[in-house]
Amino acid sequence: MREYCMVDLLTMEYAAAEITWRRKEIARRLIGTSANIKDHTINRIAPADLELLFGLYDELFLAGWFRHCFAGTLGFSLSSRLTKSAGKTLCPKDIAQRKPSEIRIEIRIGVNFFLQYHAVKNPKPVCGIATADSLEALQLVLEHEICHVIEFLHFHASNCSAARFKRLAGRLFGHTESYHKLPTAQQIARQKYGLRIGDAVSFRFEDTVLHGRVYRLNQRATVMVRDRFGHYTDGNGRRYTKYYVPLELLQK
Ligand SMILES: [Zn+2]
Repeated sequence: MREYCMVDLLTMEYAAAEITWRRKEIARRLIGTSANIKDHTINRIAPADLELLFGLYDELFLAGWFRHCFAGTLGFSLSSRLTKSAGKTLCPKDIAQRKPSEIRIEIRIGVNFFLQYHAVKNPKPVCGIATADSLEALQLVLEHEICHVIEFLHFHASNCSAARFKRLAGRLFGHTESYHKLPTAQQIARQKYGLRIGDAVSFRFEDTVLHGRVYRLNQRATVMVRDRFGHYTDGNGRRYTKYYVPLELLQK
């Protein structure tokens, strides 16, 4: 085993000032190399940027452990389906039975949280740390997922509400919480368009104006419209058709 593979990721620890310095240095280097991220505001991003960012974290925080000692594969993906958590680490259920080289762990990032970072004005801490821009928010979310990866590799399970995870995230990255306050699609809908789930709304569809209720809010609203030929039935036997409508086309 090579010498850096003796590094124990579970006990590595950085002082607050070192963490801040390293985090800034990573941002600087990412902006210098990424084909998509040209400043601290994320307008475009590709999975390759996540890989680049992870590599910088490995180098500056983890003593190159992943590059030199991890025999498995890391995958990176972006999703617009993550609506509550801003990131997710996917690990095979049978990780304990796999050979090191057969382990594949994927970090999935909810891309809309970063593209719409500025849509709402509130403070947006991530993992208990105030963020100034979408790149910093992305870094903190990735740091959180890195802790999940480390836990999965060492313990074959990971839980960010448990004490073990919190100690790891606190020592490595100074995190004090396991959640984010980045704007969700529902908050954006409420602040920007005054829309809430359950609101009565109308919208134009082909040549008619349809009336219905907001059932779900995401990038678009799911609106249920009464329709005696509809495929959806409520508890009282009333039938509905479901429409996906851009938020800006809805009238309250
Ligand atoms: Zn988590």
